[in-house]
Amino acid sequence: MTKQAVTVADLTVGSRQFSVPMPPVFESKEAEQLHVKQRLAAAFRIFAQQGFDEGLAGHITVRDPIDPHTFWVNPIARHFSLMCVSDLVRVDHQGNIVEGHSAINNAAFAIHSRIHHHRPDVNAVAHAHTVYGRAFAALNQPLKAISQDACLFYNNHGVFSEFTGVVSSQSEGDLIAESLAEGVGTILVNHGLLTVGKSVDACCANFVLMDSCCHSQLLAQAAGELQQIPHEIAEKTRTVAASDIVTWGNFQPLYEKLLARDDSFLQ
Ligand SMILES: [Zn+2]
Repeated sequence: MTKQAVTVADLTVGSRQFSVPMPPVFESKEAEQLHVKQRLAAAFRIFAQQGFDEGLAGHITVRDPIDPHTFWVNPIARHFSLMCVSDLVRVDHQGNIVEGHSAINNAAFAIHSRIHHHRPDVNAVAHAHTVYGRAFAALNQPLKAISQDACLFYNNHGVFSEFTGVVSSQSEGDLIAESLAEGVGTILVNHGLLTVGKSVDACCANFVLMDSCCHSQLLAQAAGELQQIPHEIAEKTRTVAASDIVTWGNFQPLYEKLLARDDSFLQ
């Protein structure tokens, strides 16, 4: 799928007079590394606020800007609502912990290492077992274009139908990456949801939206007949909804709210 560039000027009125939040530009790789770790810790807190915490399940990862053959991930058994920058663990593609002081979930390594490998165009991957994600995933079907928001996923996500138990091998991670293909996410049947993004910001916002689109479709399907958006309109809407600026921008209000209420994740 080719993505056309959508600019701030396309989406706002007054952007020539007033500043609009934009993705940061870094003076050094070290500054970028600190930023992505802060955003990753924040993403876990936001997942907790959304109710995406479920026991030991769920992981969000981001490629390290200094050593891109490694990625940052959450330590096992740390509640998402308590996540701090100092808790994060860096792992390489062979499964060695190269920074940090905790073990990590085996499934987190098996799935995320392969997606980071197969998708050099994305830097972050999120997976969780959510109530609406699990319910929708049991239907073994893709999301339909039934709303403006759902168009983000129109012809832009996969369905992984082969549940064989808890993911423990990188070969299963390869199959999940295959179902994701060039998309923004994949529905893991009998399991949960997974999304990707160029940044932690985009990846986390895509996940929040995918879960809420599962919720909407479940409600609509239970209530009656679905009116779907025609193909051309759905594709046109996806160009905006899936653009880099919009997917990154969707995270900013979530981050702002978290930062204003509790900035302890920065520690
Ligand atoms: Zn899982």
